[in-house]
This record gives sequence, structure tokens and C-alpha cells, in this order.
Amino acid sequence: MKLLLAFTRKGKADPGREPVIARVVKETGVLINVEKANIDSMAGEVLIDVPDADAALVRRHLEEMGVAVRVMENAIIRDEDECVDCGACISVCPQEVFSFDAEWRLCVDSKRCVLCGKCIRACPHSALSQQG
Ligand code: SF4
Ligand code: SF4
Repeated sequence: MKLLLAFTRKGKADPGREPVIARVVKETGVLINVEKANIDSMAGEVLIDVPDADAALVRRHLEEMGVAVRVMENAIIRDEDECVDCGACISVCPQEVFSFDAEWRLCVDSKRCVLCGKCIRACPHSALSQQG
């Protein structure tokens, strides 16, 4: 399961300086895969992937350290009314989230998404968006 972590430098936790994720791994024994991290001088956002069975435990530990945690069930959302199955998103996605079925209709496996945003920019029909 993917969890999107958000924090500010003024908050209790500061993954830019403190080893927050390493601490959670040590305390819980859960292996955490960091898929994306954007951290600047004021705030940060980190996307992690954890086993579904351990997600609640990891979430609790992070929240106790002051990290805001959002579960990303459908990281990327397709508007089926707008999509014309052109396939432009297939070629830009580095995670193979998109594919065609036997009838050349677009399939989306959003669990693989790492929120890079390339498909949103590439879609000529603005059919893709990120989970809000
Ligand atoms: S790029 Fe947009 S319109 Fe084309 S297949 Fe992907 S979602 Fe559909
Ligand atoms: S945001 Fe990036 S990883 Fe996610 S579906 Fe789009 S191109 Fe693929």
C-alpha cells in the first residue's frame, strides 16, 4: 500500500533532518520502500510503499512523530468520459501503470504509480489526475 507523507520544518517531525523513516523501520521491523521524496527548506512530501498488512502500524508510528499520512488507494485517476484510448500515457509512464486490453482499451494499474506526473502532462484530453 502506498502512503503519502507530508511534513513541515516547523512540525514535530522533520524527515529532512531526522531519520523518521529509518526510525519507523527500526521500531516496527517493517521494510519501507521510499518511491519518491521532495524535500525543500520549508516542507516535504515522501511517497512510501509498505506491505498492506503493516500499513496501519506504520501509519500510527509516523503520525505519532507528527507526520501527516494519506493512503493513496488510487494514486492516478482516469476520467473515462474524456479518455480516447490513444495510448500516450503508456509511452511516458516509467512504472507500466497503463496497458491496453485485447480490445485496445486502456487499463490502469494505479497501485504501481509513483506520482511522477508525466502522464497527466502528456494526456491530450486532460483525462488523468492525481488523487486529491
Ligand atoms: S493519454 Fe489520456 S486520452 Fe490517451 S489513453 Fe491515456 S488517459 Fe486516455
Ligand atoms: S504519475 Fe507517473 S508513475 Fe503514475 S501513472 Fe502517471 S506516469 Fe505513471
